[in-house]
Amino acid sequence: MKHSNVAIFVPHNGCPMQCTFCNQRGITGQKNVVTPSDVKAAAETAIKTYDNPQEAEIAFFGGSFTGIDPDYMESLLSAAYSYVSKGYFKGIRISTRPDYINVPILSTLKRYGVTSIELGAQSMDDEVLIANRRGHTSKQVEFASKLISNSGFSLGLQMMTGMYKSTVKKDIETAKRLAILKPETMRIYPTIVLKQTELSALYQSGRYTPPTLDDTLTLCAELLDFFNNMNIRVIRLGLHDSESLKNDYVAGPYHPAFRELCESRLFLNKFLSYLNNLTTKSSTNTYTVEVAPTRLSKAIGQKKGNIALLRQKGINVSIIPNSKLKEDQIKIIPIE
Ligand code: SF4
Repeated sequence: MKHSNVAIFVPHNGCPMQCTFCNQRGITGQKNVVTPSDVKAAAETAIKTYDNPQEAEIAFFGGSFTGIDPDYMESLLSAAYSYVSKGYFKGIRISTRPDYINVPILSTLKRYGVTSIELGAQSMDDEVLIANRRGHTSKQVEFASKLISNSGFSLGLQMMTGMYKSTVKKDIETAKRLAILKPETMRIYPTIVLKQTELSALYQSGRYTPPTLDDTLTLCAELLDFFNNMNIRVIRLGLHDSESLKNDYVAGPYHPAFRELCESRLFLNKFLSYLNNLTTKSSTNTYTVEVAPTRLSKAIGQKKGNIALLRQKGINVSIIPNSKLKEDQIKIIPIE
């Protein structure tokens, strides 16, 4: 059984300013300061409970990791490295801000066995970055990304959709500019309005209106398709479901199964584009669609949503599994 990484959240300690959308404690769901003992306890638990811990990374998330006090940062890394250096885990992953990456920081990370670095880029539009008080520019994202890749780390990038002052066009442009940096992984987070954020005040005063869930699904399905085609793995789509997120939610396109909804939408789009691209007009509006068994539920959609949406367009489909098909293949059979 494949296990996720050993996730350790380091809330907010290293942030120079407060981004408009961020309620860091709300997102990570953790209010206490993490100690080296916590890191060791998480590692010990994973060793006891994971089938193959050596395939997992110890991951420090939730803050600007390389912006925290250097001694504190090294104490956490040292605790993690004591396990990684003995081969219990495959490496260490950290997430941080683009303006907190430089050569000395990368040397320190290398010394402690860090293998993957994720940057919160969020947008590549400088007006959007300023409006959301990110405190860095798109050029800094490019500079830090190149430094990370050239130093032999695996690069991960994070972007957000629907930010204050952003548009669909700007979000798509952000994805294109990030893809040029050749990250190994991407995380895509639709902006959610959380309590106790500046964005919440902007929302309450009517100066920010979050995109609808449906519009966000359309956009994120397109982004997912784009990154898939660029062979860049999207390892996260949508915020994690958590009690604290539920408590802090104010507005925005949140859904606990957001990725699955995007994948269903992607399937729907592919099917509709197949119909649009038919050179000869089909004389039927009834189709059998075969998909790989692992894609069946996504093709049908939550609560048979895709089948219902197609029926609204006058198209009848039955979707069935075909074990000979690969994950990205679909076979469409018109029923005359
Ligand atoms: S840098 Fe990241 S953790 Fe810090 S306030 Fe901004 S979004 Fe939140």
